[in-house]
Amino acid sequence: MLLRHTPEKITERNAVTINPAKTCQPIGAMYAALGIHGCLPHSHGSQGCCSYHRSTLTRHFKDPIMAGTSSFTEGSSVFGGQANLLAALANMFTIYDPDMVAVHTTCLSETIGDDVNQIVRKAFDDGRIPEGKKVIFCNTPSYIGSHVTGFSNMVMGIVKGLAGTEGEAVDQINIIPGWVEPSDMREIKRIAADMGIRAVVFPDTSDVVDTPQTGEFKMYPDGGTTVAAMATIGSSRKTLALGTWASEAGARQLDIKCKVPFETLDLPIGLSATDRFIEALSAAAGMPVPEAFVAERGRLVDVIADMSQYLYGKKVALFGDPDQLIPLTEFLLDLNMLPQHIVSGTPGKTFERRIREITEGRVPNLNVKNGPQADMFLLHQWIKNDPVDLLIGNTYGKYIARDEDIPFVRFGFPILDRVGHSYFPTIGYTGGIRLLEKILGVIMDKQDRDAPEPSFELVM
Ligand code: SF4
Repeated sequence: MLLRHTPEKITERNAVTINPAKTCQPIGAMYAALGIHGCLPHSHGSQGCCSYHRSTLTRHFKDPIMAGTSSFTEGSSVFGGQANLLAALANMFTIYDPDMVAVHTTCLSETIGDDVNQIVRKAFDDGRIPEGKKVIFCNTPSYIGSHVTGFSNMVMGIVKGLAGTEGEAVDQINIIPGWVEPSDMREIKRIAADMGIRAVVFPDTSDVVDTPQTGEFKMYPDGGTTVAAMATIGSSRKTLALGTWASEAGARQLDIKCKVPFETLDLPIGLSATDRFIEALSAAAGMPVPEAFVAERGRLVDVIADMSQYLYGKKVALFGDPDQLIPLTEFLLDLNMLPQHIVSGTPGKTFERRIREITEGRVPNLNVKNGPQADMFLLHQWIKNDPVDLLIGNTYGKYIARDEDIPFVRFGFPILDRVGHSYFPTIGYTGGIRLLEKILGVIMDKQDRDAPEPSFELVM
């Protein structure tokens, strides 16, 4: 019982977070930057921050994640990190030759008050940035927000630094996919292509953090949205922002900069949210929904119908990022399950309202909370007081799952102890079948494990 000291009695807490249901802002900025081709992320702070961010991404994707650091010492911590960043930019372009560097800040450089905008301008003025190379940046103080807001901030930085316009309208749709796996980004591109739609997906980490083993090391893998594609997004018909938290701010920034209208949608996780995504994509591009998609949808509905006896009325606890939890809650209700306890460490006023709207009249005694005190400790206490049949969330949920003997589906970020998420999408109709297969797998495994011998079934 690794969490045996978690008490059932819940007391009001205002100033302490215990086992947060989120991670820090620069990780999100680093992940978003990797979705631009030829981009080297750079952490403006101490080496420890950069090591933590790189190692978390490396452990999640099981691929080496490259990034630079300003390597603050005691001196830079007191007097500021301008000299370090100027030297770092010159060194990175000289030694590693990226097309661009994406700088994000850390708690330390933000507390000092380093003005990254001014430092980057000075680097250009001093001739430290080679001709044709780019530097983009964003602010990611990690004492506010979470990895999701860090992702969002870097998407805004990408739009500010790279969005361009062709001068005349281009018949294409921009899709900001939000914080999803490279497998999901690949699936979004496949869906658009199957509908005959030209789409610019940015950022796009497919073929960057899930690269094939060919025996040849590429510092800058083949994937990522190209600078040439980014130069056209200001002329697109529309932007679809998938996820309020990770994508909307970037889409709004593009609207301000280039007057491209945008629509914010939930991530297409599960049946209903995928329906909305397909319809919105079809409407935005003026293209019909292909027959093949009706069949894809039908297969998901068929699995739901076939297996409903294992799902009906089962209580679920879930934690993670708001953009994922909202459509996931809706999907669980489509499966006739009961999303009972929901926490997200990412702040944001609309989260609780959206969840309550979705679950209205369908989940008695619902517990939902987000922000600093919506942590794994609180989730565990809720589960102790009102046990559940299933837990869904990132790897950190395994402690609760083990102590309380709850079937556990790993979903979200980070997943440090399993593989598959990089390669098999959980968005779209096909992704919905994968998610459902994972849910059914753990529920039926437990049923097999706990069944008395007379009721141990071969066919289920
Ligand atoms: S929370 Fe702040 S100090 Fe800690 S790793 Fe993240 S950026 Fe660095």
